Amino acid sequence: MERVNTILSGGTIVTMNQSFDIIHDGAIAVRDARIVAVGTRAAILAAYESDDVVDCTGQYVTPGLINTHTHAPMTLLRGLADDLRLDVWLMGYCMPTEREFVTPEFCRLGTGLACAEMIRSGITTFADMYYYERDVAAATAAAGMRGVLGQTVLKFPAPDAESYEHSLDYCAQFIEEWKAHPLITPAIAPHAPYSTTQGILRECAELALAHDVPILIHIAEMKLEQDDSQSLYGKSVVPWVQEAGLLRAKVVAAHCVHINGGEMRILREHNATVAHCPTSNLKLASGIAPVVQMLQQNLVVGIGTDGPASNNDLDMFEEVRLAAILAKTAANDPTALPARQAFLMATRQGAAALYMGDQTGSLEVGKLADVITINAEPSHNMPQFQRDPNLVYSRLVYASKSSDVRDVMVNGRWLMRDRDLLTLDEGMLLREAAEYAVKVDAFLAAREKDILRKLLAIGGLEQGESYEVQVKATVAKDSTIDKLLQHSDVELIKSIHYRQYDTYFIFDDPDAGRVRYREDDMLDEKGEVLSVRSRLTYTTPTKERDFHSAVLLSRSRFIAKADRPLRFYREYFQPQEQREFVKDRRRWHIHYQGVLFYVNLDRFEKPELPQSFIEIKSRTWSATDAANKADRIKEMLTILGIPTSDIVRMEYLEMVGETV
Ligand SMILES: [Zn+2]
Repeated sequence: MERVNTILSGGTIVTMNQSFDIIHDGAIAVRDARIVAVGTRAAILAAYESDDVVDCTGQYVTPGLINTHTHAPMTLLRGLADDLRLDVWLMGYCMPTEREFVTPEFCRLGTGLACAEMIRSGITTFADMYYYERDVAAATAAAGMRGVLGQTVLKFPAPDAESYEHSLDYCAQFIEEWKAHPLITPAIAPHAPYSTTQGILRECAELALAHDVPILIHIAEMKLEQDDSQSLYGKSVVPWVQEAGLLRAKVVAAHCVHINGGEMRILREHNATVAHCPTSNLKLASGIAPVVQMLQQNLVVGIGTDGPASNNDLDMFEEVRLAAILAKTAANDPTALPARQAFLMATRQGAAALYMGDQTGSLEVGKLADVITINAEPSHNMPQFQRDPNLVYSRLVYASKSSDVRDVMVNGRWLMRDRDLLTLDEGMLLREAAEYAVKVDAFLAAREKDILRKLLAIGGLEQGESYEVQVKATVAKDSTIDKLLQHSDVELIKSIHYRQYDTYFIFDDPDAGRVRYREDDMLDEKGEVLSVRSRLTYTTPTKERDFHSAVLLSRSRFIAKADRPLRFYREYFQPQEQREFVKDRRRWHIHYQGVLFYVNLDRFEKPELPQSFIEIKSRTWSATDAANKADRIKEMLTILGIPTSDIVRMEYLEMVGETV
């Protein structure tokens, strides 16, 4: 009799080996980290003995599930903000909260919580992309799980790096520290093509090749990503990353929702693999990945839960079931992606997708002992038909639930027995996670009330002018302006012609200030658009002081380049009311008696108004200066022949905005 550490005895062994052997009343012998024998119970018990013989009668004994794509520490952000578009969710909520809260401690705690959940759902190996991956690694190793852990690299500052160079240095050190660990495979995770550059991808690939570690990346998750790639670079995403040399490394491409046959071929030729994340893709309405076509092209496709902030759980049973079901509707073919193939993607093929197919993913002699047992006889999975062995897979994929997982072993070590977690203090993890939630809630609640903080959270804000002297008046004829422009005291510095599309976001609380999204189309002499710029302006309620006919405005104004679509800001700020208008603006910068003034001649196109408006304004910084400028404005009104009765005290918004 040969002594081994553990014998799993009895039950149905679903090996997931090349010939898909299923052994009824089987057994597995485990010594140290590896499987030393797989066979019938009678044969194994005749040859091996152990102090740890676990009765698996009434269980399926299967390879541990492989979660090929997640962001483990984001368990702490689960349910933070839902039912939003990907960009609003990511740029508006997720990243600002991450900037505020993500620390090494956050990553350890979040990973611990994720490991508890994943072990409970039968996952033994996962691929992670996040920050402070050293701490993710420490928490994963402590939980006893196997991880392919990718340190994120971005072209903009990240919670753990001021720049991508810092991230690459971090990657290099992280790889050195963890490459020899039995459970951890360090990896490099350039976030996505749109959040990196070809140069960054090239450096990532070189580092990955030098250390023979995988690259984890999001590819073509959204259609917009393909559209932008086409318009910016004239090629789709996969050829673009290929051009950067990325595919020379061992790449795991998450999502691949919007890739075509040609792109699949490129991935296949470079032995890149795909992590299919159906729940995340459906929840964010990213689309349905063409998985059946990928499999037909012999791409290696695994299944991933994606992060708990976009799923919102790490339940592989749900994910595998959805992958199988969704593929049928997408292909309009109920025979597409049968249960056995779906379970293969969650086990052996998932391991292959993470470049560890020779080590784990099936129950075979010599492979690592990553094994789970699943209750085969819960009421939701009864009765059982025996005539076709494939029915085992349909029971596992369509009816088993993560709560049916009874025992989990990774690397020959029990992590869960009879649903008791053996390596983690789940109670403490839950308490600490609840404490984090209180802090994050307070941060977001304060921000929601404060428009300026919401603006700051998405970045790129600069303080505009604070004091302005201005007057506004109606004029019946546009030519009135010539009287001023041709006057001997006026020196013309610059003239510009715009068409302006303004959308105001108005909030119930009048003290909240308001946000204006303005698209300025700069026009040439023929009225053709020369260039377009979009800006966001935040204005707090204005304080006024009168100087003759002119008015001193004191206000704080913040201006940011609006590099996202209007729709993003609308969904992010959620104003109570919106007003829109379109105007033709001619603007002159003039010196009047040597003092700089801005003169606007505005004609409204939406809504159409019979009269035009002249505005004269100047920046100011003191009461004396404001009084001087008000005097000059009064003189200019006289030159223009504008009577006091034509002076307008209201802002455009109060006069003409159309509520939409
Ligand atoms: Zn992801």
